[in-house]
Amino acid sequence: MPVDATLPYDDQNIFAKILRGEIPNKTVYEDEWALAFHDINPQAPTHILVIPKGAYVSWDDFSARAGDAEIAGFVRAVGKVARDAGHVNPGYRLLANTGPDSHQEVPHLHVHIFAGRPLGPMLAR
Ligand code: AMP
Repeated sequence: MPVDATLPYDDQNIFAKILRGEIPNKTVYEDEWALAFHDINPQAPTHILVIPKGAYVSWDDFSARAGDAEIAGFVRAVGKVARDAGHVNPGYRLLANTGPDSHQEVPHLHVHIFAGRPLGPMLAR
């Protein structure tokens, strides 16, 4: 079910459980600010999720409340994951669903990295 990105943070969401080590994940990268892991239901040959370590519901919540160091650390982590996986050329796509119209399903900010084939138009027509 799509989530309301304006709700308070729910620490029982699945990515909070992954951050606490309660649910396994296929980790790609981890640092002080971010955890990156493979999506359980990949939509492209490479489909990685990058999440901040802090408790933020969505991109809206993160961009409004996170500190400068957290934002810098998270953005650099997203770039590093894609770069280290060799996706700068031929390219990759970032996506951060926010709120019901976007079909956000997990209420902890996550940036999708899609890569590994020509990804086509930005949105389904
Ligand atoms: P969104 O629709 O943007 O909220 O995307 C949520 C994503 O989380 C989907 O692509 C799911 O396949 C993915 N997902 C859900 N549960 C897990 C999990 N336990 N491990 C990895 N990815 C997950």
